Amino acid sequence: MVGREAGPTQEEKMTEQAHAGGCMCGAVRFRGTGAPLRVGLCHCETCRRNTGSSFLAFAVFPRGRFAVERGATAYFQSSPEGRRHFCAACGSPLFSEWTDTESFDVYLGALDAPHAVTPRYELLWGGRAPWLPEIPGLECFERNLPAEITEAGGAP
Ligand SMILES: [Zn+2]
Ligand SMILES: [Zn+2]
Repeated sequence: MVGREAGPTQEEKMTEQAHAGGCMCGAVRFRGTGAPLRVGLCHCETCRRNTGSSFLAFAVFPRGRFAVERGATAYFQSSPEGRRHFCAACGSPLFSEWTDTESFDVYLGALDAPHAVTPRYELLWGGRAPWLPEIPGLECFERNLPAEITEAGGAP
């Protein structure tokens, strides 16, 4: 009981925030724990085709703070280091797994509370829809984030 009166420790603060989510049919449930490393939008063709949407909004969690808690996903290997996970029963796209950075991009639309986090950057890849108004306050990158950001696990 030493020091507990001072409030939650840094580690407790990091883990008290939970971002639970799952697929449309409920077979798959997952959880990101603590604040995401970063939250962004991607306008690349793979993300569009993967989600069937005009762009993807996602929150990044390191491997140690992300877990599938119920069911099992199927995945499509979309690049040498990228796996696009989905529910094999209902088809809901759920998250991307990156084996190079040991991280997961959790799709905001699959979260129980999708608006609890706010995107801070956009990956343009030349694919931003012309009808989509500019979103103030988002930092734009032509393609991927610079490696010095992703390798450090940080945010732009
Ligand atoms: Zn499902
Ligand atoms: Zn993308």
